Amino acid sequence: MAKALIIEEEGADPQVQEIDAQRIKDANTEGDVTVRVTHTTLNYKDGMVLNSIGKLARDFPHVPGIDFAGTVEESNHPAWNVGDDVILTGWRVGEAYWGGYAELARVKGDWLVPMPDGLTAERAMAVGTAGFTAMLAILELEDHGLSPTTDGEVLVTGAAGGVGSIATACLARRGYSVAAVTGRSETHDYLKSLGASRIVDRSELNEASKRPLEKETWAACVDAVGGTMLGRLLGQMRYGSSVAAVGLAGGNQLNTTVLPFLLRGVNLLGIDSVMCPYKRREAAWRELARDLPMDKLDGMTSKASLEDLPQLGKDILKGKVQGRVVVTL
Ligand code: NDP
Repeated sequence: MAKALIIEEEGADPQVQEIDAQRIKDANTEGDVTVRVTHTTLNYKDGMVLNSIGKLARDFPHVPGIDFAGTVEESNHPAWNVGDDVILTGWRVGEAYWGGYAELARVKGDWLVPMPDGLTAERAMAVGTAGFTAMLAILELEDHGLSPTTDGEVLVTGAAGGVGSIATACLARRGYSVAAVTGRSETHDYLKSLGASRIVDRSELNEASKRPLEKETWAACVDAVGGTMLGRLLGQMRYGSSVAAVGLAGGNQLNTTVLPFLLRGVNLLGIDSVMCPYKRREAAWRELARDLPMDKLDGMTSKASLEDLPQLGKDILKGKVQGRVVVTL
């Protein structure tokens, strides 16, 4: 038997149940590795699945959980042996496939990455998809010319959320000066403790400007918010700089003009963690293990159980979750 958080049908409340382990193994016919999940986490997308928003999960019953860490229990895949410590993020696990909100998961071995030296399963899930994506964004910005010697501050939007918190801590550790955008005044000390050198109130950026171009201000941006904020900040980017578009916490519309691109050579870089190529995944996890200050990671992480997830899923959609949440199975 295995404990799992199950959504029986679309729109139903998720419930913790003891189910036959074979049911989990049979749920993913493409799977060739069974993982004993020890830790999982909560991401914005998990909140959407837990609340049946966005039609991310279409087949029911469904086990959510877009990422997990654990130990290989059975393997028919040449890369993995029983006892290997592994991480899974993305590949539509927790959406099209049963996910990490269960003591066992059945997945394709090609989807797993090895636990990097320096990380435990608990800390890997403190990072989770949110933190992994923050690092993908940083690597993409650096591939497009950003370096700690670049003039100006790096803007992080949705800074007190999961993506934003890890982006802020990693950017600061890499030597960047970080301006953190938040709508929650009670998070200012927290963001400074992660390394933000300046706090920008959300109200300064969440209304459209009448002018398509404003003062050139930001050296780069990790944007977890999208919507009006992304449209606004594009007009404030410095010449030749880049914005990594990660999220849509503030909306999925984008109203802008082409002027930032044509007159200032601004780059808008799309960041996708789900189908991200394998080599990039390994690189991002290596960088996270090397760069992320573990004391800061521990400080931004709260602990929860499977039973807490339905409520947490509602909270994250309302922007009420600070930092990261680790769920121990
Ligand atoms: P969180 O909920 O933890 O963080 C989002 C933050 O955005 C909130 O904490 C809040 O920050 C801010 N925010 C929320 N609502 C609004 C609003 N209406 N206007 C402006 N700011 C707002 O989510 P995550 O960090 O886990 O994810 C952030 C986004 O990134 C999500 O949209 C998620 O779907 C996306 N994402 C994308 C991935 C990809 O592969 N591209 C992978 C992972 C996540 P504050 O309180 O500081 O203002």
